[in-house]
Amino acid sequence: MNHDDLNHWSKRAADWVTDYHRSLRDRSVRADLTPGAIAAQLPREAPDAAEPMEQIFADFERIVPQGMTHWQHPRFFAYFPANASPASMLAEQLANAMACQGMLWQTSPAATEIEQVMVGWLREALGLPEGFVGTIHDSATTATLSAILTMREQAMEFQGNIKGMHGHAPLRFYASAQTHSSVDKAIRVAGIGQDNLAKIATDTSFSMQPEALRAAIVADQAAGMLPAGVVLCAGGTSIGAFDRIAECIAVAKAHGLPVHVDAAWAGSAMICPEFRDLWKGVEDADSIVFNPHKWLGAQFDCAIQFLRDPTAQVKTLGLRPAYLETAGREEIVNFNEWTVPLGRRFRALKLWFTLRAYGLDGLRARIRNHVAWAQESALALAAIPNVKIITQPILSLYSFALPDDIKTENLLNRINDDGRIYLTQTRHEGRYVIRVQVGQFDCTREDVMMIPRIVAELIGQ
Ligand SMILES: *Cc1c(COP(=O)(O)O)cnc(C)c1O
Repeated sequence: MNHDDLNHWSKRAADWVTDYHRSLRDRSVRADLTPGAIAAQLPREAPDAAEPMEQIFADFERIVPQGMTHWQHPRFFAYFPANASPASMLAEQLANAMACQGMLWQTSPAATEIEQVMVGWLREALGLPEGFVGTIHDSATTATLSAILTMREQAMEFQGNIKGMHGHAPLRFYASAQTHSSVDKAIRVAGIGQDNLAKIATDTSFSMQPEALRAAIVADQAAGMLPAGVVLCAGGTSIGAFDRIAECIAVAKAHGLPVHVDAAWAGSAMICPEFRDLWKGVEDADSIVFNPHKWLGAQFDCAIQFLRDPTAQVKTLGLRPAYLETAGREEIVNFNEWTVPLGRRFRALKLWFTLRAYGLDGLRARIRNHVAWAQESALALAAIPNVKIITQPILSLYSFALPDDIKTENLLNRINDDGRIYLTQTRHEGRYVIRVQVGQFDCTREDVMMIPRIVAELIGQ
């Protein structure tokens, strides 16, 4: 392919993108295929001879779209959203074309400096105090792993990285059962051991009980173990639970423990001041993660970790072999030292485009609509005989069920086979429930109100 070909095919691809987005409402949201159906359409081996792009593109159109679950479909209400605003997609194309490795400041100063400014814009937009700095990771999982590794090293006086964990008193971490499995994964990967992640009891609103946290820390200390850190949940994945952030941080601080807050989904909503009560006290956390790639519209991958002070994390994760030194520029920030991978994409560009193309007001309006429509659709569902709202909307997430698990599961299968909307399940207090989250970038009230309409239709009410 030469540059003329690139020009031609970029335009073809741009046309395809527009047509695809225009056709989304007519497509079934979830891919409906048997496993292996896509792989069976590909040859077993890579071609020896070059193939014409015409052929490659035709195969793409023939094979790929029908094998996709359409995350940008306006009636995608499953999991959490992975919004790609049009402005974000455009920025990603440009970043792709430059294809930089942003590991050091000097490997692309614009990537580092725009990242610093975007973190500052979002710190302000979320109402976090001055002083917090941060970086963009690929995912909340990586941000949480970075935070756990840092807390581990702080507890071990930075000897874990050097001497290993062998022979050391067990480190203890604390989280509620509502926190995301990425916390469990980080604990495992960091060598802490799953048994050393204490799951603290929650109250009737599924928030961590500060008194139970205090009791667990004290008991562990008495048993000769070493409490090392607390992870708090600000918008859990299952039902949207929020820990009582201020009270739990107060307990952690009273015992000298650092705190990481996981707001991967709900953090985006904090651009609206009226929701900030939900995470009141967050300004006293040491580390906070939120995913603009979920609700805000800067597409995957884009997870921001705010840090009160990056020193400990850089000391934990930063390595500077001779070949990564930047002569005479010791003062600049090299973001690879803030995270686990060395290589990093230019993720800040899509934030820059998204925040400017919609403005904070445009993004706030979307989130406020989503929250209002979630409540409206929950009310309409509750009016259908046999349908019960199991967890009330927290921001734009709620769950519902029929009188028993089997009926609920059958209903979910029928909803998703139908294809006009896409919902997923969770287990709440032992019960199989259907999760609804409203948050797709382009969804309308009409799209959301199809949820109660389709449920009523399918259960014959
Ligand atoms: C989605 C989610 C995560 C994981 O996010 P990734 O960016 O996919 O790693 C972690 N915590 C919460 C609360 C989430 O909603």
